[in-house]
Amino acid sequence: MLPRDRAQQIIADHAAGKPVRAIARAYGHNPKTVRNYVSGRRTPGEATARSDDFAPFITYCWQRLAGRKRPALQVDQDRRPDHRPHLPLLLTHLRTETLAEARHPQPFPLPVPVSPVNGETLASFLGGLAAANRISPDALLDVLPPWFRVKTRWHDDRWQHDQLTPWADAAAATLAVISGTDIAAIRNTLPAFGASSGQPARAVTACRRCTAARRVQQPVPVHLPAHYRVCLPHGIWLSGPGTPQFSVSGCPGIIAAEHRARRLLRHCTIEQVIYASIRAAEPAAAAQPSFRPAWKQRMQALIMANPRAVIEQCPAELLAAASYPDTITAAASMIAMGQRTGI
Ligand SMILES: [Zn+2]
Repeated sequence: MLPRDRAQQIIADHAAGKPVRAIARAYGHNPKTVRNYVSGRRTPGEATARSDDFAPFITYCWQRLAGRKRPALQVDQDRRPDHRPHLPLLLTHLRTETLAEARHPQPFPLPVPVSPVNGETLASFLGGLAAANRISPDALLDVLPPWFRVKTRWHDDRWQHDQLTPWADAAAATLAVISGTDIAAIRNTLPAFGASSGQPARAVTACRRCTAARRVQQPVPVHLPAHYRVCLPHGIWLSGPGTPQFSVSGCPGIIAAEHRARRLLRHCTIEQVIYASIRAAEPAAAAQPSFRPAWKQRMQALIMANPRAVIEQCPAELLAAASYPDTITAAASMIAMGQRTGI
């Protein structure tokens, strides 16, 4: 920003007919800077308007402070033409109000609502909620009930301890209010509140398209039912940790096999499906389909539909996906035979 006197002098010189380049040479400034002042894009004595990181939170701050504004803050707001308060003053008042609420805690929604991904770990959800609202995870834990601090310290979402269980409903209700989502979503999607409790689970990264739909860019760790291999809405193969996901949407047989695997649970347990699938996928099993035309077609479709870099990183997962329809067919036969023979 140029000094006010210099900027006013530049405007006067230009009004008197002096060209921009001559003014820039005379005062040693960039012609673009001079042009900004003479064209009125910049005003002498005022800094360039910059994007305001705090802007999305101002309405929220006023809502939080509604009815509790102190005289100094009110005067400051009234004095400003755009009714925006002096930021340090507003932050001081917010801090005071937050401390007052800490003595009499009441849940309140954060400015940016965040909904959980199915099966998401508690630490991941709290981290995402804190990041979206530009606060530290510790600051978020400070406004949540002590239940959350104990639970995140254990790093075991699926363990429902007897002494914590009675407080889980109240904790879920508080988190629902603070994250701006509903309590059913919190209970049904987060294993920390008992979602799918007692069922075998598989620790994977959530489907990348499911997380992208929630505007989450980073990988989200989740616990999914152990027999889930494909995200059905997006046709994404849920590879193991550290292995890239790839699309199987071009292979209807793989999608149909995933539907069939989930339907098997009407007649057996997840453990039985997993056990039969492992046996069917063993190298010596009759279900091995390496030379069948359908298997070759699926493998070719997977290679064509996915980036080469992804394909090269996960050959084992690719083989498992191409063989999946045959694996599930063989597993279903084993389960049916076992039920007939009572084994
Ligand atoms: Zn998905």
